[in-house]
Amino acid sequence: MADLLATISSKTSAILKLAKTFGNAELYEKISDLKIQLAKLKTKHAALINENRKLKTELIESKNNPLNYDSAVYRDGKNAAFCPACYDSHHKRIHLKPTLISFIGEELSCPVCKNEFADAGKNRRRGRPPKAKPDK
Ligand SMILES: [Zn+2]
Repeated sequence: MADLLATISSKTSAILKLAKTFGNAELYEKISDLKIQLAKLKTKHAALINENRKLKTELIESKNNPLNYDSAVYRDGKNAAFCPACYDSHHKRIHLKPTLISFIGEELSCPVCKNEFADAGKNRRRGRPPKAKPDK
């Protein structure tokens, strides 16, 4: 596709030069407009190539390390917690950060959407009793 765009750009420049040589102002203007549209197409093409590369990387990551929904959060094979709001709405894997450990388990927050999640299942999985709230 990039080769095709380069060829079209080259041919358009040659036609533009001919229009100038023959003094055809209307043709020159139309070819100039065409070159502007071609530049926009090249920019869009580059953006799509980058997006495609990013999506391929995400797809490989998803296949190699799938997420499972568990006690209000998503977890990968290494038991890392990910934000369900970001994953469900934008399919982005955002690591949750622990903010508070209470008697019901750990509270996690998302650095992107700022949602907070009670992760009651974490202590159950580790086979230890939940930590008590510190006395004030
Ligand atoms: Zn989030």
